[in-house]
Amino acid sequence: MRLDYCTECAAPLTKITNTDYVCTRGHRYHNNPHASVSLALINDQNQVLLIERGIEPRRGLYALPGGFLDYDENAYQAARREAKEELGIDINEDDLEPIDCALHYYLENDSAAGVTMLCRQWNGTIQAADDAATVMWKPIDFLKTDRIAWPYPYLYNRLESILHHDI
Ligand SMILES: [Zn+2]
Repeated sequence: MRLDYCTECAAPLTKITNTDYVCTRGHRYHNNPHASVSLALINDQNQVLLIERGIEPRRGLYALPGGFLDYDENAYQAARREAKEELGIDINEDDLEPIDCALHYYLENDSAAGVTMLCRQWNGTIQAADDAATVMWKPIDFLKTDRIAWPYPYLYNRLESILHHDI
């Protein structure tokens, strides 16, 4: 995120390197993107599951299910937790395949570096919950439209390549 003032003492922060900051009283900060995970669920018709965002930011736009990693999670664990929270489904770790990464500006001054997991097998019936208003299956070229809340510059090409070679 963008850092201007010390959260300990409110003094202005000085940038030492691209990631290190210090205030006049010596409080130090390491600034880096948040870690996040996205799920690219693909059905038998090679469609991708999208959620319509029910809350801000970017309410009404579409996104892959997913979210930020908790403090003590890896990306697999976070993907499985988000699948349960947002979609009500269970996914085995073996059925998650990291296929892409992207940097998103979640909020104006706050970035997220995320891994996208391909998943074609899950247990349970998908139901929208949490910050998803509705869920829908879309052809993967929908990922290239401006209806996507946070763009994935490489994901369409990766999915196209993977799904094409599987047919
Ligand atoms: Zn300080």
